[in-house]
Amino acid sequence: MMLIACPHCGPRAHVEFAYGRTLDAVLPLDALPDAAARILYQRDNPRGLSLELWRHTFGCRSWLRVTRHTVTHEISEVIAWPPTPAPEAP
Ligand SMILES: [Zn+2]
Repeated sequence: MMLIACPHCGPRAHVEFAYGRTLDAVLPLDALPDAAARILYQRDNPRGLSLELWRHTFGCRSWLRVTRHTVTHEISEVIAWPPTPAPEAP
């Protein structure tokens, strides 16, 4: 069973999460239709590390950025998404 370590809830079974998309499929707000179609439908499907957005649907409902190997499904990093900026020093 694949475990995903939610930064808010701790390690949980992947069935608690919903796959969103790969991070390279997030459209910029100003994407023109041709560029949007290319980003959404003509992407590579590489073997190896993939940056993906997952949502902890049956937990804290947060979006997470998961670094997953597409062959082994090994997860090497999970962070909250979007990342919160560090507070500025006074
Ligand atoms: Zn969570």
